[in-house]
Amino acid sequence: MAKRKTVWEDCDILVVGGGMAGTGAAYEARYWGRDMRIICAEKANIDRSGAVAQGLYAINCYMGMQWDENQPEDHVRYARNDLMGLVREDLAFDMARHVDSAVHKFEEWGLPIMRNEETGRYQREGKWQIMIHVRVINQLLLRQLVIQ
Ligand SMILES: Cc1cc2nc3c(=O)[nH]c(=O)nc-3n(C[C@H](O)[C@H](O)[C@H](O)COP(=O)(O)OP(=O)(O)OC[C@H]3O[C@@H](n4cnc5c(N)ncnc54)[C@H](O)[C@@H]3O)c2cc1C
Repeated sequence: MAKRKTVWEDCDILVVGGGMAGTGAAYEARYWGRDMRIICAEKANIDRSGAVAQGLYAINCYMGMQWDENQPEDHVRYARNDLMGLVREDLAFDMARHVDSAVHKFEEWGLPIMRNEETGRYQREGKWQIMIHVRVINQLLLRQLVIQ
């Protein structure tokens, strides 16, 4: 059995897992808690952690509110039907109303998002997905954490 070493660290906020959710939570924690000591603990290698480490070809959910493509109510309706009513509609609504600004932030940070040449809008595949160029997306979040 490999030897284990225990390291004790104090922190104000402990984020467990360095996938998209964890690095996103760590980013938000740093943004709102400037003076706090935040630790993001990942059991694998944080440079390529989480399901996104294999690279994504799409962002599965973008409303397109700026072009009135979808509104949060549409996404709640979709989730309600898809999950046969077993959905926290308040959370689905909240996620839907914030998701576009998160995508815009990723684009600002350098994520290449494909655009439709005729309309200039993000290239869609289906109703909700937009197409991106494969990239380790949580690396962008980690880089922003370092910059902060
Ligand atoms: C093959 C595949 C393709 C996908 N393609 C797309 C796509 O194109 N577009 C899209 O939008 N979504 C896609 N998804 C979905 C998307 O990747 C996931 O929804 C998202 O990455 C989930 O993020 P997460 O942080 O919740 O979980 P994860 O990415 O699974 O992160 C959890 C992290 O926690 C760590 N961890 C677990 N337990 C512990 C512990 N006890 N201590 C410390 N660390 C721990 C794990 O090592 C892992 O790094 C895809 C998923 C898969 C599997």
